[in-house]
Amino acid sequence: MNMSEIRNFSDTALRGELRREVRMSKHTSWRVGGVADCVYQPADLADLQVFLRSLPSDESVYAVGLGSNLLVRDGGLRGTVILLHGALTELRCIDTSTLYVEAGIAGAKLARFAALHNLAGAAFFAGIPGSMGGMLAMNAGCYGSDTWQHVESVQVLTRSGELLTRTAQDYEIGYRHVVKSETGKVKGKELGSHHLSPFTFHQEEFFVSATLKFSRGEGDIERQIIKAWLSTRIATQPLNLPNAGSVFRNPVGDHAARLIELCGLKGKQIGGAQVSVKHANFIVNTGGASAADIENLISEVRASVAAQTGVELHPEVRIIGEAA
Ligand SMILES: Cc1cc2nc3c(=O)[nH]c(=O)nc-3n(C[C@H](O)[C@H](O)[C@H](O)COP(=O)(O)OP(=O)(O)OC[C@H]3O[C@@H](n4cnc5c(N)ncnc54)[C@H](O)[C@@H]3O)c2cc1C
Repeated sequence: MNMSEIRNFSDTALRGELRREVRMSKHTSWRVGGVADCVYQPADLADLQVFLRSLPSDESVYAVGLGSNLLVRDGGLRGTVILLHGALTELRCIDTSTLYVEAGIAGAKLARFAALHNLAGAAFFAGIPGSMGGMLAMNAGCYGSDTWQHVESVQVLTRSGELLTRTAQDYEIGYRHVVKSETGKVKGKELGSHHLSPFTFHQEEFFVSATLKFSRGEGDIERQIIKAWLSTRIATQPLNLPNAGSVFRNPVGDHAARLIELCGLKGKQIGGAQVSVKHANFIVNTGGASAADIENLISEVRASVAAQTGVELHPEVRIIGEAA
């Protein structure tokens, strides 16, 4: 995108940071990914609204939080990335059991804040290295809990900068799955049939905040749970190497890791990408991996598991961008 193509850019009172030609490897936990044409980090919600209104309507825009579930191909992204981690950072109590959490807040910060305010049920967020926006988009979860089970409402900004409030009824929500309902109505508006596939680059709207509900609890107990769950992760996950958590969704009634291990794929390597020997559903960047190495390894694992077990694995990670 050419800067001059941003409508009235010089006239608007934008307060965020616009950068061009940004390597996405800096913004993904796999530490791979080609160059994005433009990256905008808004100053706050109002600033993001102004920015979206300033963009040409045909400009592709993609939200990125902490990039912990994202594979950006080596050829990069034509369009604009809005970087929300470190940007939308308001976190406060609304009342004794409800929190207002902006999209840029990290899971660990949310869990600690909830414990500080004696709220129970937020400990699971501590081990998810994502932002609130990414956790809403993925319905991130673990240890029997997930994000949307705590959502009272969310605020979204549409691609044209309109701020809307939505509730869970406006979405189809499932295991690592959140899409707008096709037939739902939002504030009197019939929703379109836009479904965001895991491979879609262009996005129609972005989560900017959530109102989350928890039960009252004991801060000390919550902190103990956080500590125990983090220890389990350190013991079972290859956290010393760049990764994106679980690569595949678990098939119903089974575990992707079990199937991958059963097929003898632990340690399988393509270039710098390796199926972790510690956790078979993780692919680690052993150093110098390209996005193509990782994507090819994902394809090989899928093909091998399908051939040997008949089970079709589906990626949980989002894969976007152009091949090199
Ligand atoms: C070590 C490790 C452990 C993990 N453990 C877990 C786990 O236990 N459970 C689990 O569910 N996940 C886990 N993950 C995966 C990941 O942390 C989650 O999917 C998380 O929700 C991603 O958040 P993010 O901010 O990094 O999103 P990103 O990776 O930046 O983006 C992921 C998707 O969300 C979209 N998105 C991001 N922000 C917004 C927004 N504001 N509005 C609309 N769409 C948005 C992006 O466009 C993209 O499609 C793990 C990852 C790692 C590296």
